[in-house]
Amino acid sequence: MESSVQEARQSIREEVRKLCRDFPDAYWQDVDKHEKYPQEFVDALTTSGYLAALIPEEYGGAGLDVTEAAIILEEINHSGGNSGACHAQMYTMGTLLRHGSPEQKKRYLPKIAGGDLRLQAFAVTEPNAGSETTRIETRAVRKGDKYIVNGQKIFISRARQSDLMLLLARTTPYDELKDKTQGLSVFIVDMRDVKGKLDIQPLDIMVNHHTTTVWFEDVEIPEENRVGEEGKGFRYIIDGWNVERILVASEAIGDGHWFIERASKYASNRIVFGRPIGANQGIQFPIAQAYAHVEAANLMRDLAASKFERGEKCGAEANMAKLLASEAAWEAADVCMSTYGGYGFARDYDIERKFRETRLLVAAPVSNNMVLAFLGQNVLGMPKSY
Ligand SMILES: Cc1cc2nc3c(=O)[nH]c(=O)nc-3n(C[C@H](O)[C@H](O)[C@H](O)COP(=O)(O)OP(=O)(O)OC[C@H]3O[C@@H](n4cnc5c(N)ncnc54)[C@H](O)[C@@H]3O)c2cc1C
Repeated sequence: MESSVQEARQSIREEVRKLCRDFPDAYWQDVDKHEKYPQEFVDALTTSGYLAALIPEEYGGAGLDVTEAAIILEEINHSGGNSGACHAQMYTMGTLLRHGSPEQKKRYLPKIAGGDLRLQAFAVTEPNAGSETTRIETRAVRKGDKYIVNGQKIFISRARQSDLMLLLARTTPYDELKDKTQGLSVFIVDMRDVKGKLDIQPLDIMVNHHTTTVWFEDVEIPEENRVGEEGKGFRYIIDGWNVERILVASEAIGDGHWFIERASKYASNRIVFGRPIGANQGIQFPIAQAYAHVEAANLMRDLAASKFERGEKCGAEANMAKLLASEAAWEAADVCMSTYGGYGFARDYDIERKFRETRLLVAAPVSNNMVLAFLGQNVLGMPKSY
């Protein structure tokens, strides 16, 4: 790789680290304790341009590649922060970018890049479908030049902290389809001016993720807000999965490094039985082991990102990166908890907060079982479970 590219990436890393220094542990503790949205942090990230990393320059974004976006999210989590507050903008952008019309891109992207519009909500999951996305039931029925949407979505994060929602809804009844991956469509819902009822209710969950249940009652969406062709929405969502997995892996790598740094430091300073606890192999070796696993995941993430940027197939690597990084981060979290003993449970030390936050990455936005199913079935050619 050219040294100028490496230098530019290192400079982004350092700039994001610098930005994150203004949001220390106490900030994230307060946000978590009171279940607040980290608005000041998201504002700073928007002003710096980093939240618009993946928006092309012609639309006012930074026009960076997936590696740079990965570095940004990794460093936020590495600093002790939680990029879950705002990562959706990077995750979901691709659908609009790849499949949106020139008019849609012109209408939305510059405002999103400038921070005037927030695209933070992505509505796919439903109670009766779960991981089987092709079973979603929320219906969008065409009526003249608009669609009328009725149904329910669950676990929709940041719906109250967003102006726009990217919605996956059914436009053809399941039973009428030969190919069950068809019949779903993607829409941009402008939540500021929906006609009909959009009822958004918070879900009480173990992480501060602003996750909600959303009910649609005769919600009107103009036809011009449909992204791409009717019925091809599932394909459009799948197209974004590799980038999503690379970015989730990056958050997990950031978490993993944070836990290992905290654990190593604490283990070196905490004296029990007259010596640092880190001198004991029962404490030291698990930290070293977790470090090795985080670094291995790091390499897989870099490989996935570089293949993606070269336009090569990277489904296997992106999925392996997500799997390895989320498991390594979770291992590091557990090891860090053990290293801190009772203090790991004290809110002031931040370990328990990051422990909760990093566990989420094993299960969402996609569970590691689904990742293993992809590897087993699509990469290794074994029989399908679904
Ligand atoms: C904090 C949080 C935020 C979220 N934010 C969003 C969001 O913004 N937008 C959105 O659309 N969704 C969001 N989700 C939803 C998340 O993507 C889903 O929880 C996830 O896709 C799984 O769906 P489910 O919970 O219904 O699990 P289920 O589908 O019920 O599965 C339960 C378990 O069974 C496993 N399983 C199911 N079938 C198989 C199989 N064939 N083989 C092996 N294992 C299997 C699953 O992997 C999982 O471990 C969020 C979830 C959480 C917890």
